Amino acid sequence: MWDFSFLTPCALMLFTVLGFYFSEPHLPIRANRTFLVLLMVELAVMGSDIVSTLADEHYESLSIGALYAANMLFFVFYFARTYCFYRFSLHVVHVASEVQPRLEALLSLPFWVSEAICLSSVYTGAIFSIDATGYHSGPLYKLLYVCSFLYIGLSLFVLATRGKGLYRFERDGVLAYNAALLIGNAMRLLMPRVLVMDTFCTIAITIIFFGFMNPHLFIDQRRIAYNKRGLRLVLSEALEEEGLHVMGLVLRNYQRERVIVGGERVDATIANICTWITETFPHNVLFYMGSGRFALTGDDSVNWDEVHQKIRARFAEPWQTGGSSLNLGVLFVNIDETSGLNSADQIINTLSLSLESAERNESMISDASKDTLSIGEVYEQVMTIREIERALEYDEVEVFLQPIVLGSSHSLVGAEALARIRDDFGSIIPPSLFIPIAEQVGLIDELGAQVFRKVCAFIATHDIEAMGLQWININLSPLQCIQHDIADRFGMILKQYDVSPDLIHLEVTEQSLIDYSLVKNQIVQLCDMGFRFSLDDYGTGYSNLVRLSDYPFANIKLDMSLVRNYSNGKDNLLPVVVSGLKGIGYTITAEGVETEEMANSLSDIGADFLQGYLFARPLPIDEFVDTYGSPDAA
Ligand code: C2E
Ligand code: CA
Ligand code: CA
Repeated sequence: MWDFSFLTPCALMLFTVLGFYFSEPHLPIRANRTFLVLLMVELAVMGSDIVSTLADEHYESLSIGALYAANMLFFVFYFARTYCFYRFSLHVVHVASEVQPRLEALLSLPFWVSEAICLSSVYTGAIFSIDATGYHSGPLYKLLYVCSFLYIGLSLFVLATRGKGLYRFERDGVLAYNAALLIGNAMRLLMPRVLVMDTFCTIAITIIFFGFMNPHLFIDQRRIAYNKRGLRLVLSEALEEEGLHVMGLVLRNYQRERVIVGGERVDATIANICTWITETFPHNVLFYMGSGRFALTGDDSVNWDEVHQKIRARFAEPWQTGGSSLNLGVLFVNIDETSGLNSADQIINTLSLSLESAERNESMISDASKDTLSIGEVYEQVMTIREIERALEYDEVEVFLQPIVLGSSHSLVGAEALARIRDDFGSIIPPSLFIPIAEQVGLIDELGAQVFRKVCAFIATHDIEAMGLQWININLSPLQCIQHDIADRFGMILKQYDVSPDLIHLEVTEQSLIDYSLVKNQIVQLCDMGFRFSLDDYGTGYSNLVRLSDYPFANIKLDMSLVRNYSNGKDNLLPVVVSGLKGIGYTITAEGVETEEMANSLSDIGADFLQGYLFARPLPIDEFVDTYGSPDAA
């Protein structure tokens, strides 16, 4: 007598899993389909197992056709189940890396061959045959086990070779359900009359459900959107297809809003935002990644510009939550296929990093017309931050010196110190890129201090007078100017190197002077110590707004653009400006002098000092010393 007692609880268990499975919304992923097919196939195996066993027992009363049908169904489903489990392992491993489609097709061959052999049994009796004495196993009956062991082996092989990027629980999960299948097959082989295989398959399916397919795993706890784990799954599948697009969104000042209006209200608003986005864009899938960060996925068929516009327009309005309203800003980050990211984890990490960086460096995109960063831009910024941090840590900020010459004789009188840092490959990152970033992330103080220290070290270790240098200019960022202890800090460095402050001119831009009350004090203090001040980039800012005479400037540096416009005839006011400034008592330096004619015309209108490529580019200190240090240097 056959023992079916294992089957009832197994079937009930599978129906429970099904019930749970349909209790929540599902991600649009193919693994869902495979899982459902697996469940159905398992139920079909159970059903056909019982039917065929009973039929075989009562073969006398049944036609040969009916016996063939009952047994055939069982075998066909049995092979299919084996293959479904293997397909599921592939889904899991896909999350971490690609498995080549051609290899995959090749590996499905044993399954199809087995099914074909199975179906041919009607004529060949290979797997089983039916005759007047009922059911008989065929010579190839053991193909059932061969196929099972083969696919369990393949699952484990794929896991071992391709599963390195998986989380530990994922690897353990795949191992666990394959172990259950292995044991089930082994027991069936050894004890064919106990129908225990289905129990082990139910265990395997339960492991899959709890570890991989439970929809609760992919939904944010408050059920407002899918979560990061869900995003990982969707991305890993989308990567195999064309047209992947992810839009990242981050709420501006999320942390600050939490402090100001309270976490509860912000959370309620986030739930509102999720509902609105989900309803407005039914063809996209929304994920909430925590901390005011969202991801919206979709394909080419979505009009992403429109999505962008709509979201931006909605955020221009306040969000109503529980009787109160909240205004929130939003920033965007776009990832598409061109980003060159090729695993789900890579995309998620870059997205998180970008959203974090977008939020942290808000001012980079605070320009209202530009609220979107491409992943490339953010990535570059993030990399630049790293380079700056590294250069600071290893004292690798380099100082280049650019000569400043007398307008009359073109002989060396001073030099401007310009900061340089290098990337991993040793190429120089332009200061126009790293200075603003250093300012935004709060590294400019340290950077400025390193430049200042290196200039002092240079002065202390070289006979600069012999080179003709009367001073060296150092740039001060507006953010350095508002540090109330800057005079003390510079004073300490001067002392350390025993350098006199009158050898140093500090260059500040008009931008620094906007915060009048904050800055003036520092500048006056530094001046009292003996530093001299130059106004940098004159002509680019608010010159007329700032009452220059309130500040102790000794020198004005005409910006390159003024100089250029004068030389090509677009501006003929410069002589008046220069004579006016000189009348007040400032000396004048012209920057960006690139040709002999420019040099001459600027001297003619009264520029005391000239700086520019005509005389020299900014040079590394060694090169500067080589060029200007020898007594016979020009
Ligand atoms: P800046 O202070 O106006 O520096 C002058 C810039 O003009 C330098 O660019 C210099 O290389 C460039 N230059 C000089 N002569 C010519 C010329 O004839 N033609 C042209 N086309 N360019 C010329 P650089 O070194 O790339 O520096 C860019 C800016 O970065 C500087 O502008 C300054 O604002 C900032 N910077 C550089 N080093 C520091 C630093 O140590 N601290 C701070 N706060 N800012 C710095
Ligand atoms: Ca400068
Ligand atoms: Ca300048």
